[in-house]
Amino acid sequence: MSDLDTITHFINGAKVDTTSGHYADVFNPALGEPCARVALGTADDVNAAVAAAAAAFPAWSATPPLTRARVLFKYLQLCQQHTDEFAAMLTREHGKTFSDAQGEVARGIEMIEFAVGIPQLLKGEFTDQISRGIDAWSMRQALGVVAGITPFNFPVMVPMWMFPMAIACGNTFILKPSERDPSASLLHARLLTEAGLPNGVFNVIQGDKVTVDALLDHQDVQAISFVGSTPIAEYIYARGTANGKRVQALGGAKNHMVVMPDADMDMAVDALIGAAFGSAGERCMAISVVVAVGDSGDKLIGALGKRTAALKIGDGMAQASEMGPVITAAAKHRIEKLIGEGVEQGATLVVDGRDCKVADRANGFFVGGTLFDHVTPDMTIYKEEIFGPVLCVVRAPDVATAVNLINANEYGNGVAIYTRDGGTAREFVRQIQVGMVGVNVPLPVPMAFNSFGGWKKSLFGDHHAYGPEGVRFYTRHKAVMQRWPNTASAGVEFAFPQHK
Ligand code: NAD
Repeated sequence: MSDLDTITHFINGAKVDTTSGHYADVFNPALGEPCARVALGTADDVNAAVAAAAAAFPAWSATPPLTRARVLFKYLQLCQQHTDEFAAMLTREHGKTFSDAQGEVARGIEMIEFAVGIPQLLKGEFTDQISRGIDAWSMRQALGVVAGITPFNFPVMVPMWMFPMAIACGNTFILKPSERDPSASLLHARLLTEAGLPNGVFNVIQGDKVTVDALLDHQDVQAISFVGSTPIAEYIYARGTANGKRVQALGGAKNHMVVMPDADMDMAVDALIGAAFGSAGERCMAISVVVAVGDSGDKLIGALGKRTAALKIGDGMAQASEMGPVITAAAKHRIEKLIGEGVEQGATLVVDGRDCKVADRANGFFVGGTLFDHVTPDMTIYKEEIFGPVLCVVRAPDVATAVNLINANEYGNGVAIYTRDGGTAREFVRQIQVGMVGVNVPLPVPMAFNSFGGWKKSLFGDHHAYGPEGVRFYTRHKAVMQRWPNTASAGVEFAFPQHK
């Protein structure tokens, strides 16, 4: 028996242990040691969660949207009251700094702020007298049991891209959080219960591929929302859709920031340091490549080098820390190996983050800020998503070369341009093949009122996440025509009706 706290499933309003008897350690990455253990679920556990969610669906989907919104409104207030509790969990299990974690919770709460408008969002369209004596209208109805599978890097916010809207629309939900930082899922469950959500509407299944596959294959799961790495996103999309489910699968990224020679260089450096090294580069919208156009590379590199080397790295709970550890020992090893490959393949290593030492945290999974110059598209550090604190500078003679480079990249999540020229920015926005674009904004993450999603290998499926696209994803459109005749039948009509 382990002394560590066990993070269990949450099914039908109660914490439930796994039937497998197997657990995985959850680490505090700043200490490099386990802080809890998480249950690894089985197909039987998934069956129990789906059964609970299916049983809850008829009553929940028949509950008026305003009543559903009121439960979410209460949950919103509870999340605000528990922000610091969520944030401390995030820092403990993910490693990000406490202030960054508070920001993550705030961006998650935004999703509830949008979802409480569900009575307005679900309004259909009505046409009086679409034909003689006939009215037509459209409405959107919930799908049934839907599931969300989420990554380690935003354990509070990314699940909130999914379940507030899914349940606001009248669905019942099963969350399969990342096994690396699963605690927040149970705090969500507790607060939703306190807010008055009926049992079975929100359930949590802990685990790994076994539980994911069981969800993908379960005939009573109508839709899957996934956020994670591209190979898994592609797999989820293929297997989920082959099983007849609606699937949205958001994948990895390689986000570029173009800096034009006319840009405000101080502003660009500030933006790059925050966007590349915030959350140790473990954001799907992190900037990992600077495309320095013309002489902007020479203007940027000195300041970028100084600021990268001066980053304050430490335990995320320490107020002075600007950057915490990466998620696992394996992630640290992988990132450091990629840095080595960058050197071997000829990039100029300006700041080397390998061998990063943090006082009193000798076993923590720390990688220092790393800066490469003269990176070329054939190098592994350019091609692979590093998902760590590594910034690569690619030099480009002109904006057309920058656009071609970015458009040729297999990912298309986020991109930014820094310039003072409106015409250049406008053309860039129009030509770039990327889902989210920032003009003098480094991380163009849409707020809850607009939807989020990349292009190319950053998203598989037809719907972007949350916002208006979330309403569409979690509902089906229904078209209705009605007639209340007060005359006798005009007889059988075999020809396709023409409306006059
Ligand atoms: P991951 O793909 O390893 O894991 C994501 C989820 O899939 C987890 O719940 C995990 O348990 C499950 N999973 C892992 N391997 C599986 C397998 N073989 N079969 C079935 N399920 C499996 O991703 P991660 O390391 O947790 O997160 C980082 C990745 O997520 C990065 O690539 C990042 O860019 C991406 N991400 C993308 C977005 C976006 O919006 N596009 C947002 C956040 C993170």
